[in-house]
Amino acid sequence: RGEFDGLAAVVTGGASGIGLATALHLAERGARVACLDLRPGELPEPLIGITADVSDDATVRAGIAAAAERLGGIDILVNNAGIGAIGTVESNPDDEWHRVLDVNVVGLVRVSRAALPHLRRSAHPAIVNTCSIAAHAGLPDRALYSASKGAVQALTAAMAADHVREGIRVCCVNPGTADTPWVRRLLDQAADPAAELAALKTRQPTGRLVSAEEVAHAIAYLASPLAGATTGTVLSVDGGMHGL
Ligand code: NAD
Repeated sequence: RGEFDGLAAVVTGGASGIGLATALHLAERGARVACLDLRPGELPEPLIGITADVSDDATVRAGIAAAAERLGGIDILVNNAGIGAIGTVESNPDDEWHRVLDVNVVGLVRVSRAALPHLRRSAHPAIVNTCSIAAHAGLPDRALYSASKGAVQALTAAMAADHVREGIRVCCVNPGTADTPWVRRLLDQAADPAAELAALKTRQPTGRLVSAEEVAHAIAYLASPLAGATTGTVLSVDGGMHGL
């Protein structure tokens, strides 16, 4: 038996990268899983794809209601949808700040708000947020992205405190640079993709990128009933970067 037998999970941004790896991992261990995404496309069996934009409250509410109906409830929410932004405080205009914070921060709030009434009915409710080492590492040219992930880490602690008495656990993972379609797109745009990849690898003490599956396993642990005494916890999955 899998540790997610009988449990239902919603993964935002579940059609690609870390979200897809997480959805597949939870399903392999027995969960019923719905992936909320801008473009769910053709997902592998048995994943259920639901179209929703976390920056649009109406689609979030409809998407969570549809997921709860099709899954027969929601026990686990993985707030993983996120977008990147490159630049300093001087180079990103206000509308770019609003756009990215609206997805990475307010998006998480919207989805959580819609899902909490369902989680309250679960015997093993858990929320796991995909944060980033950018929340604390001081990476160059990532002011806006870092601010958004700093907010996600702070929200994780605040939500954990707000919901601990009703038994809802809230944790986050902080991945280092993970090998996902997002990072591959960034590399494709680099002047010298091979040199950029080498630089990303050497930045992490393990000398390689984190795999999407390694992040998925960390998310799955925090989401599982095995982590029943763990809330407000940040789990780094960053090849040792946080220790530097
Ligand atoms: P990805 O681009 O491969 O996948 C992200 C998914 O989110 C896509 O399917 C996309 O359609 C979806 N999405 C984007 N905006 C959305 C919206 N408004 N509403 C609904 N869905 C939306 O990216 P990834 O690398 O797997 O990243 C996933 C999460 O991991 C993000 O929150 C990212 O910040 C975080 N993260 C990634 C890395 C990395 O190196 N890849 C490192 C640290 C943290």
